[in-house]
Amino acid sequence: MPGLEETEISKAIITAYHEKLLDRLQNDVIIVGAGPAGLMGGMRLARQGMKVTIIEKRLSPGGGIWGGGMTMNEAVIQDKALPLLDEIGIRHRPSPEGLHTTDAVELASGLCFRALQSGVVLFNLMTVEDVCVHQKRVTGVVVNRTMVAGALPVDPITLKAKAVVDATGHEAVVIESLRKRRLLADINESVGEGPMDAGAGEDFVAERVAEVFPGLWVSGMSVCAALGGPRMGPIFGGMLLSGVRMAELVSAAVSKTV
Ligand SMILES: Cc1cc2nc3c(=O)[nH]c(=O)nc-3n(C[C@H](O)[C@H](O)[C@H](O)COP(=O)(O)OP(=O)(O)OC[C@H]3O[C@@H](n4cnc5c(N)ncnc54)[C@H](O)[C@@H]3O)c2cc1C
Repeated sequence: MPGLEETEISKAIITAYHEKLLDRLQNDVIIVGAGPAGLMGGMRLARQGMKVTIIEKRLSPGGGIWGGGMTMNEAVIQDKALPLLDEIGIRHRPSPEGLHTTDAVELASGLCFRALQSGVVLFNLMTVEDVCVHQKRVTGVVVNRTMVAGALPVDPITLKAKAVVDATGHEAVVIESLRKRRLLADINESVGEGPMDAGAGEDFVAERVAEVFPGLWVSGMSVCAALGGPRMGPIFGGMLLSGVRMAELVSAAVSKTV
């Protein structure tokens, strides 16, 4: 294209990104982690008109979906969660014993696409380093560029929300930041996941979604990591159902604060 000015391209990126970031200083909900639980829950909340921001430390959102099981990029979903795949528009195939398989890349990319199309704003390459706590309530997150976090002496910035969700998977990063300061009355000891029990784990991860500290919810594998649930291996239905449950609980709580 003749006459295309390179600095105009740079200006477009800088302007659009900073408008987006400025708009997200205040949120209804901040979800930390763009795995299946965070994306599914974020999509449901955004569809209800909530202002939802997801923060993802890696370049690619989708969490642990992409690699399926042992790098075989097929994801397994049980009967109970199948309507969620249909809701998102993800194709699937039946497998014995009430199981279904879906292409892991289609699941990860479909979840990302639907969440964003529902109104979620997602910042990748951004790491949550800490939370804000005011009067014994989580009121926001402290973030830095992933390339900088923990590597360079650069101060982070802060984004605020009525509700914050730890959906960081096995690491349960946000819970850990409170637990190590002994601020979580019920989970002051680091529990960690139990040994693998797929059935029990799939139930635990959805049923035990909770507000673990005022203003802070836990969803997805973080539930098992923080509360001592069993691991369940490469089956993703429970993660999606956990996101749905989180959206129900967070929506009810945030609606009350309006
Ligand atoms: C290495 C690996 C091991 C696994 N082991 C098990 C297992 O033992 N048991 C089991 O049941 N399943 C396991 N899985 C399967 C499956 O990936 C997870 O169960 C599932 O992906 C968890 O979904 P989630 O939404 O809870 O979190 P995840 O899919 O893990 O997504 C969490 C997201 O949070 C992001 N994140 C983490 N910290 C921060 C931060 N500070 N700031 C911003 N973003 C952050 C991560 O980058 C990630 O994208 C494993 C997957 C992987 C990749």
